[in-house]
Amino acid sequence: MKPFSGTSLTDHALTQGEVLISMWHVKAEYHWDAGIAMGRYLEGLKAGKITGIRCPECRRTMVPPRAFCELCFRPLDDWVELSDTGKINTFSISMVNWDASRRRTPEVPVVVEIDGASPGMCILHKMGGFADGIGDNIEELKDLLKIGMPVQAVWKPADQREGSITDIEYFKLAG
Ligand SMILES: [Zn+2]
Repeated sequence: MKPFSGTSLTDHALTQGEVLISMWHVKAEYHWDAGIAMGRYLEGLKAGKITGIRCPECRRTMVPPRAFCELCFRPLDDWVELSDTGKINTFSISMVNWDASRRRTPEVPVVVEIDGASPGMCILHKMGGFADGIGDNIEELKDLLKIGMPVQAVWKPADQREGSITDIEYFKLAG
């Protein structure tokens, strides 16, 4: 392989004006598009609603909505507003954060099967709003929580929502 020819730039050349340099601060702004289905889902969350979509062929109601049915391979556009209630499909009581750092109090990630959607259609969120002290106590949480329990979304105030899954603060036990 041929070695590169030429002369490397030195600090001296750069700082003493021996070569032409130009510097500026890049001010780039980015937008990203979540796509039709996820975009409408996020818009719904901002409005305090959980949006699903129906497939006319397999009759499934899916959440989060998607642009096409992965079973029937057909485009979807039958939007449906679902309830903001559901049932615990599964959950965990975690003493570590996403970055593996240790927590002082438990976090309860939960998979919620949303009412009105087809069986197994779930969203991932977290549990909260426990009665005094229970949310800080692993043993009490283990005794309290069971798969199949009804839950309800607790929303942020409308003026604080931004079109994100965190527009739901958490799910609380219902009833
Ligand atoms: Zn389908």
